[in-house]
Amino acid sequence: MNGDKDKGIFLKTITDKLFEFAPTSMAESWDNVGILVEPSNECLVSNILLTNDLTEDVMDEALEISANLIISYHPPIFTSLKRITNSNWKERIIARCIVNNIAIFSPHTSWDVVQGGVNDWLANAFEYEEVKPLTIQKSNAIKSKYTLTVESTDDNLFIKIGETYARSFLEMDLKILMVEKSTSTSMSTKFTVEGTEEILKKIVPMLQQNVSVLCYYINPQYTIGDEVSGVGRICKLKTPITIMEAVKKLKKYIGISFVQLALARKVTPDHLIKTIAFVAGSGGSLLKNTYCDLKITGEASHHDILDSIHNGSSVILTNHSNSERGFLLEFKKILTSKLNNPNVQIIVSSTDSDPLKILQALKIKSTVEFSH
Ligand SMILES: [Zn+2]
Repeated sequence: MNGDKDKGIFLKTITDKLFEFAPTSMAESWDNVGILVEPSNECLVSNILLTNDLTEDVMDEALEISANLIISYHPPIFTSLKRITNSNWKERIIARCIVNNIAIFSPHTSWDVVQGGVNDWLANAFEYEEVKPLTIQKSNAIKSKYTLTVESTDDNLFIKIGETYARSFLEMDLKILMVEKSTSTSMSTKFTVEGTEEILKKIVPMLQQNVSVLCYYINPQYTIGDEVSGVGRICKLKTPITIMEAVKKLKKYIGISFVQLALARKVTPDHLIKTIAFVAGSGGSLLKNTYCDLKITGEASHHDILDSIHNGSSVILTNHSNSERGFLLEFKKILTSKLNNPNVQIIVSSTDSDPLKILQALKIKSTVEFSH
């Protein structure tokens, strides 16, 4: 079951390389990452199986290819296990790994935040001139200033602000960063001002007295350290593209035949977009307070989607794991070059797939076929 042990390398050698790519300390505090199953302290590895989810089908595949290590992006053990029996699928998988001497490593959110990880892979579906995390990881970023972006339907927004607030903005040490016609809703104008969080919160009610405020956002700005890592990504495209072009590019890049699209209010599919935010997996709440033309994530709640489309952002959903899985092919290349050992075989699972399918995209011949 374990392949040719003479040709394998120690698990520790592989985990060192995995940590080199993304230290598990980068993962979110609530996550459960790293080595989750280690059948012995001298595990030799010659066959590595990469998967997004460790399902029972993937487990069968791991045994077929004589895997000694499964790298499962989502952690197969997340909440505490009180027993390992054969009574449910999650426990069965762990039991089968131990019996068959297969180790499990899970990187999860450490791959989400790391530079060159899952979210960067997703953003690479588009040609951008600039990309940065939505929230820069605290370990290498200092939160210094905040920005307030105000969007208004009032054409005279800037005249009013100039006349009424220029002096007080100066006194409050606020800096106007940007004034422009909104690209998301042609009827609106917006401006961004920088200052401390406290002052920005105070000026919102002041502005609302004289200007019809459509919506506003207060976001932290960061002084970035050496590495640009953090949750999600937001990019500015090199050239604006229509929403339908974005849909086509994304489908092609991920290799799926469908997405779900929620258009922002008063926006049509041929509307040009310039800024896109990405959260691989479940990004509804993370994307909630992000201002951009388009948000791309795996899944989001109905109410988060309604918030987005009312705040000028269209939303594309791909289903959860379709927004993550494609990174495995990229990671295979990264790990192959890091290990640089012809005796170690790295295989991307062929049975791992998103459990949700769109019926129109399936050629169903019989219920037996679908029940797979
Ligand atoms: Zn996920």
